[in-house]
Amino acid sequence: MTQGGAPVDNGLPPALAALLAGVKNASRLAVQVAPPDIRPWASGNALPGVWSFCAAEPGPHVVVVALMHGNEIGGAVLLDRWLRAELRPQRGKLTLVFANLEAYARFDLDDPTASRFLDEDMNRVWDEETLDGGRRSSELRRARMLRPVFETADVLLDLHSMLWPGDPLLLCGQAERAAELALALGTPGVAVADEGHAGGRRLLDYTPFSAPEGRRRALLLEAGPHWQPETVAQMETSALRLLRLTTLAGPAPPDAPGRLARVTRTVTAASNRFAFLRPYRGGQVVAARNTLIALDGDAEIRTPHDDCILVMPNLRVGRGQTAVRLARFDPGNSR
Ligand SMILES: [Zn+2]
Repeated sequence: MTQGGAPVDNGLPPALAALLAGVKNASRLAVQVAPPDIRPWASGNALPGVWSFCAAEPGPHVVVVALMHGNEIGGAVLLDRWLRAELRPQRGKLTLVFANLEAYARFDLDDPTASRFLDEDMNRVWDEETLDGGRRSSELRRARMLRPVFETADVLLDLHSMLWPGDPLLLCGQAERAAELALALGTPGVAVADEGHAGGRRLLDYTPFSAPEGRRRALLLEAGPHWQPETVAQMETSALRLLRLTTLAGPAPPDAPGRLARVTRTVTAASNRFAFLRPYRGGQVVAARNTLIALDGDAEIRTPHDDCILVMPNLRVGRGQTAVRLARFDPGNSR
């Protein structure tokens, strides 16, 4: 994104454009939420970095996950706030997880994208072959430790934020029961039924949550841009509403209507020359079918249908990574 070291106006917010252009101190502009000191929570009461609270009355086991990506600090802000406030379930069990403690420990205001993970993306390892296999990494060690917690979750919410500009959304994978939960949650107002990534399975794609015959449900919240107060606010609104629906903890935010979109095509970059024709924003709708939106080397990427929703376009994608999901609203699943 630079030519001769000078930032290029590419339609991005100035702080993000400057950050990606490597402008000194730009990252301090971009990080507008103070990273919390979570050392008091590192020991956990169930596992390191894992806190579980049981109510006397039986009910579902609800798990809220922060820091699956170590640089997405909004979830840690929220869980730190809840732990200090001693939020407790009124029924069932509530478990709060700080997932990638080691990556978060390296969060650096001068290079805030660097601490996403140490060895590999922790949200691409959630299949039995990988978890049971012999590969070793910091993230796999932690994933194997957390696996029993996630395998007993009736409902799980995985809190994330986004590098590129885009509207908040809930990802629910392929399980219809997760899509129903996302619509019941209603905030943010858009839920996307998607296919995951070619690069590996996410926690919400893990068998206990995705098997057709199962009953466990997982949602991934992309709450807004990294490091912004409004992103933490969206996390809190969505998570509190989930707790209200499940464990009756906390106040209930007002009802909001949700809409379900289904991914029609997952575009994986086949080259390192993938480039969008414009700085598209997540949630943007391209009205006309067959609109050219990107070039992947010489290959044209066009919208497959009218009213095509661009889900989380990655404006600086490498070969083998997801460049964008294309989706459309499901007329039968809005309310
Ligand atoms: Zn993330």
